[in-house]
Amino acid sequence: MVLGKHLNQDKDSFYSEIIWASSALILLLFFGYLLGNTWFFFAMGLLVYILWHLRQLSRLIQWLANNEKDMPPDASGFWGDVFRHLYRIQRHNHHRQEKLMLLLNRYKESTEAMPDATIILSKNWEIEWFNSKGTEYFGLQTGKDNGQLLSNLIRSPILWDFLDSHEEDPSFKQTLEINASNSERILSIRLIPYGQKYLLIARDITSIKKLKTMRKDFVANVSHELRTPLTVISGYLETLGEYLKEEPVYASSIDLMQQQSHRMCHIIEDLLLLSKIESSEKRVLKNEFIDMNALLMMLKKEALVLSNKQQIITIEDTGPKWLKGDVNELQSAFSNLISNAIRYTPKGGEIIIRWSCNDSGMACFEVQDNGEGIAKQHVLRLTERFYRVDVGRSRKIGGTGLGLAIVKHVLAHHHSKLEIESKIGFGSTFRCKFSDNMLKSDK
Ligand code: ADP
Repeated sequence: MVLGKHLNQDKDSFYSEIIWASSALILLLFFGYLLGNTWFFFAMGLLVYILWHLRQLSRLIQWLANNEKDMPPDASGFWGDVFRHLYRIQRHNHHRQEKLMLLLNRYKESTEAMPDATIILSKNWEIEWFNSKGTEYFGLQTGKDNGQLLSNLIRSPILWDFLDSHEEDPSFKQTLEINASNSERILSIRLIPYGQKYLLIARDITSIKKLKTMRKDFVANVSHELRTPLTVISGYLETLGEYLKEEPVYASSIDLMQQQSHRMCHIIEDLLLLSKIESSEKRVLKNEFIDMNALLMMLKKEALVLSNKQQIITIEDTGPKWLKGDVNELQSAFSNLISNAIRYTPKGGEIIIRWSCNDSGMACFEVQDNGEGIAKQHVLRLTERFYRVDVGRSRKIGGTGLGLAIVKHVLAHHHSKLEIESKIGFGSTFRCKFSDNMLKSDK
């Protein structure tokens, strides 16, 4: 309605301008005719008309150049409409600008209140904006560093690799841990793409990291401290068992004590192994390649001894001959998967140990059984330390609850992940996939 009203007003002033100008020209032509100099009067009239328009144009330019908020110059008719419209558009833009500034300030205030460093990056990794934590964590300076390439200011090759991974695959979601450039701080970096830009969020995780290290050290130290006394106790129990084997009252108690001390030794060995793997997770894998045929043969031998002919064990080996990795760690992970399959598959069951290569060039180690299977709600938690589906049962068959946690950490060190497929009553498949950069051609 308002727009229609304006359009009508514009049309009115346009027509009145035409009527006014043409009537003035006709009048001048008439006077010119009467005075015998028609074209002179006509030309003079046109000149005055053009000069008047030029004057209005110069007033408009002056107003636009000088003012932002001043009222437009007084004018009537056609030019009055032009001034009025421009003034209205300007006022509208001012309002919008004020609203945007308000929003921007609110956004800045909220990011300032955040405990994390926030940096807005262009798609070419230039710094567009950062909050005060950005200054604190990365030493960025307001004004000076805006527009600079992030890689010029934060000299961390792993951060550059991380940014490259995001550039290649925008759905890349991993977080990165780096040390802050100017302090002992450990930062966890996340990159969130939006529109044509990126939001980099850096969180200080120093205290969480310290707690984790303390926990790891505590477990490692306790396990270490317990190992020696337990070995001594086990040794004495063995001697005592030999000595009292003819005494039925003591023999069964000593047997039970021996079983429990073995179980504790087992737990401590697993805890120590887990601490060792965990503390070496960041260690770069040497270019050492494992002969997978030989390893599979060794695993089969172990499996046959453990199974004691209770299950049918088959090896399927169609995978690559060499796998890059730490042979002790991988052997321990694969053995854990196989011993689980044997322990949780009833007599007569089938176990397949498979080493193969899939279509996308990934090598795959799989242990498939047709045992009892695992309910869906447990699957996601199986790699947690001491998580067991049935605690009593696991203890009875000599489980420590640490086997799959060990597998998870070994695989993380080998840039792989454990995949578990299982169905109650049908069995389970535990799969470890290795990318092609962990393989070597046979040549
Ligand atoms: P545990 O020493 O108790 O076997 P693990 O960490 O190796 O500990 O396994 C965690 C739990 O996962 C086990 O307690 C068991 O319930 C379940 N599990 C592991 N492997 C299998 C399998 N092949 N079939 C059925 N359940 C399994």
